[in-house]
This record gives sequence, structure tokens and C-alpha cells, in this order.
Amino acid sequence: MKRDYYEVLGVGKEASSDELKKAYRKLAMELHPDRNPGNKEAEEQFKEAAEAYSVLSDGEKRKVYDQFGHAGLGGGGGGGQQFQFDPNQFADFEDILGSFFGGGLFGDLFGGGGGGRRRASGEERGSDLQYNLKLSFRDALLGKEVVELSIPRLEACDTCRGSGCEAGTKAETCPQCRGAGQVAVRQGFFQMLTPCPRCSGKGRVIPKPCRDCKGEGRIHRKSKVSFKVPAGVDRGTRLRLQNQGEVGRFGGRTGDLYVVFDVEPDLRYERDGSDLHQRLEVAWPLLVIGGSLDVETPYGMDKIKLAPGTPADHVVKLQNAGVPRLQATGRGDLYLHLRVAVPKSLTAEQRDLVEQLRRSFGGDDEAEEGFLAKVFGSEKHGKKKK
Ligand SMILES: [Zn+2]
Ligand SMILES: [Zn+2]
Repeated sequence: MKRDYYEVLGVGKEASSDELKKAYRKLAMELHPDRNPGNKEAEEQFKEAAEAYSVLSDGEKRKVYDQFGHAGLGGGGGGGQQFQFDPNQFADFEDILGSFFGGGLFGDLFGGGGGGRRRASGEERGSDLQYNLKLSFRDALLGKEVVELSIPRLEACDTCRGSGCEAGTKAETCPQCRGAGQVAVRQGFFQMLTPCPRCSGKGRVIPKPCRDCKGEGRIHRKSKVSFKVPAGVDRGTRLRLQNQGEVGRFGGRTGDLYVVFDVEPDLRYERDGSDLHQRLEVAWPLLVIGGSLDVETPYGMDKIKLAPGTPADHVVKLQNAGVPRLQATGRGDLYLHLRVAVPKSLTAEQRDLVEQLRRSFGGDDEAEEGFLAKVFGSEKHGKKKK
């Protein structure tokens, strides 16, 4: 007996279309065959959920189902009319699931869209995988020649070379559906196409499954994958390693591996795209009379020149000393935001000199307008500009 569609999705009869969608999406993710390799029960439940959703998400069909139950489906008219899945209804799920699983099963279940002919081979694209890799600020900036990851994934079974069959045997066309993957089931007056129970919609059966992979053609293994990190990756940059995901089923394409980067911050720098910003403390006399200053950039030491009378909030731009541009050539720039270093303590001699200086700029008690005020007071302007 067929289960109630609402029960299948685990929602109430009043469920909104959003609730239906959510419930179905959750089930589809849990039960997806790629997540449950070889688990026939999960596969059946997955298809059951897809069928339930295809009906309940359609206002018209849902009304009919609410009134007449399973027997009511198939629309008005006489008997013999077939009810089929509408592949278009699953378009948005394909987007969601496709990014997780490669969407192989949808192609399998619902045929080639308009073409109507499904692949009888049961082939299924392998899942894409994602690996989150944390990099130091420096490695993200300069790149890394070799990174080796240990990736657990499904790979082709060596014993049967991915066929799933014991040596000397091969897969046969499913006798029940004759390779079509679906069979007609009577529902009261109507006939419905449902995935073939014998072959679970694959269209073929394996008479003697391989002992090592139990007919799956794939086995779980941990494999080393090495690749190069390009210079200039940022937090969230995604690197696609083609064919490094899970192997497909029965000749299906291999999925891809996506490496998503996370980058540790560096207290010295603030990154803005391909530009870097850095605070640079400068002794105030240098701003006043000018001079040159050694600065450390990510690429080594550099020298900057400050003109006499450089403002306290001056920004020096070091061209091409920023982050390498990922999709282009060259690098961004490094901006040095000057900050006046005010000494907390002075020797008696220094104090005398500063005092003399202050006086030379005018009046004992007019420090507010005097030179020192300009320099010390300027600290409030010296904040980093963004
Ligand atoms: Zn079959
Ligand atoms: Zn095998």
C-alpha cells in the first residue's frame, strides 16, 4: 500500500509550500543515494519523497490528492492516463543538490528532460567534495608550491575496476523494467510510472556483485591530493580541482574537489582586495625636517622618503607591494598610514632641547598655538584613514 504523501514528507495537511519545500529538501539531502551508497531503503525513500513532493508542490494535483487520495491522481478523464514526474519542478533543487552531490540521480530518475529517453546504464556522476583549508597570511600572499591533503572519498574499486561485478561476470539489463528503470503501477483507474523496484531505477542488475565493493563499484578510501596554492588567494577563494572528487558510478564522470581557503589575519596588515594597509609609527622630528626611513614590506625591506613638513596623517603609497592579483597580473599597493610616535619619557637633555624648541616657536604659555601643539595635538588627526 502506498504511504500518504504528507506522511512521507513528515508535514501536516496544512503545510505551506515553503514548509513542503523545506521538508523535501531536508529529506532529499538525508536520503540522497550519494550519501547512502548501497542503502536500498534510503534510495526507495528518496524516490518516495520526490514523488510526494512533485504532487504536493503542484496546487492542482495537491487539491485532487487531498480530495481523492492516491486514486484521484492522473487528472480527470478515463483510465490509462499516465502520471509522470515533471523534471522542471526539480530545477531549483537541482541547483541546491547539484552543488552538493553533482545531481547525478536527478538525471537518472527523470530522464534526459525533454528527450524522454533515460540512460539505461545507471551511470551516475560522482559527488563534488569540499575541503576548507586554513592558510597563514603569508602563504595566502605568496602562494605555496605544494599542499598535500588527505581526502576521504569514494574511488573505483580495484577488484572489479568499478563495474561492481565479480570477475568473469557482468551486469545485465534488468528483467523487470527491461532497462527502462521505471515500471507502470496501477493506481485505481490510473497507471503511474514509478522507479523499478528490482533495479532501483538503474535499469540494470548485477547477478554476482563484487565481494570487495558489494556491487557498488566504488570503495571508501583516503587519498593524497596535492596542488599548488596560487599567490593572492583570499578568505573564501574557491579552487576547483577537476576530477578530484568522488568517482562516478558505473562509468559516470568523476566529481570535482573544491578547496575553500580561510586566511589567518596578520596584525600588521589590513587587507582590502589586493591592497594592503599598514600603520607606520614615525618619530615627529622626522616629519618636521624630513628624511628617509626603512620600512619592512611583505617582500623585503624598502626605503621611503619623507619631505620636510610631512603632515602627521600622511599616507605613503608603495606601488606593487600589495597582494598579487589572482585573475590578473601585478600586485596591489601597500599603503603606509603614518602615525606620530610621541615619546613617553625623555632624557634631561632631550627635555631641554624640546623646551628650547617650544620657546623658539613662541611664548612660554602659548603652547596651544605653538609648535608642540602642532605636533602633539596633531595626534588626533593621525588616526588611520580608510
Ligand atoms: Zn528494473
Ligand atoms: Zn568491486
